Amino acid sequence: MSGGRGHYAHEVHSARTALSWQDEGACRDQDTNEFYLGPTNSTTTTAKKVCAGCPVLEACREWGIAHEPYGVWGGMDEKERVNERRRRVRYARAERDRAAAEQPAQEERAAS
Ligand code: SF4
Repeated sequence: MSGGRGHYAHEVHSARTALSWQDEGACRDQDTNEFYLGPTNSTTTTAKKVCAGCPVLEACREWGIAHEPYGVWGGMDEKERVNERRRRVRYARAERDRAAAEQPAQEERAAS
């Protein structure tokens, strides 16, 4: 059978590449508990302060929104990421609906 381990190796490589920005993170020498104790814990504020000065904040934030259910990533806590995911879904739906609404008008212009 082909592909099994090769596919796995590709996924591992992709994950490492995707997370290579972590080597530059301002939190790399921090206590990770500060980033994982929940949105109501005061240490979340400490974590967000570290993130505010981080050179890889944007990459980390996008990773966190896409992949991470817990902790502070890119200056956003769990609840903020849930809200951002919902906002993006609403935006994508609105864009899809807008495009669908414009299509008949475009077809009408093209036919005339
Ligand atoms: S943005 Fe915050 S959590 Fe992400 S790497 Fe930087 S300091 Fe760490």
